[in-house]
Amino acid sequence: MEHRELLAQAVKAAEMSYSKYSGFSVGAALLTAEGVIFKGCNIENASFSLTNCAERTAVFKAVSEGYTKFSAIAIAGSGDGDFSKPCYPCGACLQVLSEFCGDDLVIVLADGEYRLSDFLPKRFCEDSMK
Ligand SMILES: [Zn+2]
Repeated sequence: MEHRELLAQAVKAAEMSYSKYSGFSVGAALLTAEGVIFKGCNIENASFSLTNCAERTAVFKAVSEGYTKFSAIAIAGSGDGDFSKPCYPCGACLQVLSEFCGDDLVIVLADGEYRLSDFLPKRFCEDSMK
């Protein structure tokens, strides 16, 4: 899977965004180790704190289907239909991704490719509780 194609899938996922309050649509395309893509979008709620990001939507969909190993995630966000600017993942999503992914998870954004460790070099994880 070309990472450029994965980013295109993230933009497509943003079409399903339920973002009636912010008007900011986000899509994510999560690539499993098996080559399966799970797409997610942001889902807002009138009780704002219940809003779920696109990245976590994609992760939860994948895990609920039995996939727990991921190699890349593409993220695209826009408030006006222009997805050319990068949409960086929030801290909550990085933490959720880190539960299932190592430092080498590729994060594909409009401005290039990153690794999970670029955004979250130190994190709370299973080893933190030992
Ligand atoms: Zn997030």
